[in-house]
Amino acid sequence: MPYAFVESPNVTRAERRRIDVVVIHTMEIGERDGAAAACARWFADPAAQVSAHYCVDAGTVIQCVRERDIAWHARGGNGNSVGIELAGFAGQGADGWSDPYSQAVLERAAAVAAGVCARHGIPMRRLRGADLRARRRGIGGHADVSDAFGKSDHRDPGPDFPWQRFLRLVRASARGGDVVERAAQA
Ligand SMILES: [Zn+2]
Repeated sequence: MPYAFVESPNVTRAERRRIDVVVIHTMEIGERDGAAAACARWFADPAAQVSAHYCVDAGTVIQCVRERDIAWHARGGNGNSVGIELAGFAGQGADGWSDPYSQAVLERAAAVAAGVCARHGIPMRRLRGADLRARRRGIGGHADVSDAFGKSDHRDPGPDFPWQRFLRLVRASARGGDVVERAAQA
């Protein structure tokens, strides 16, 4: 099954780009049904001037930008990355990231991230700002892109985002072959 595709006009078309990095974001939209759809609607508005490749909530994944195109999600780091927006807030504490809704978001987002890593040969490892500056390949947060390039003050997915748990889920998803949903490539 392909992901639902709600196309954003806020993209830079790219014919052949190398994808090195998966960037994790929080939507700053609360934990509820329809959060991914609400985020996709925002990205579908040309006035928004922002986008990401995927929007993930507890029940749904919506793709908004083809992976081969450049989404406008992390200033300074867009050209070689795929952006994934998670329902929730950068201000969530550890408890917030452990409730059943967030666990479902993390599992779904991990499957999406595992798929991106598999399609583009990206190592399933955490990157910080220095790694991004060194052009290493892997998975980081918007805050790490902000640290690396100094072109944004966004700090999502926040200081309490459970990176270790998330990376375990990404690796488990890759092992389990739970990456069968096809991204829109056409
Ligand atoms: Zn962000």
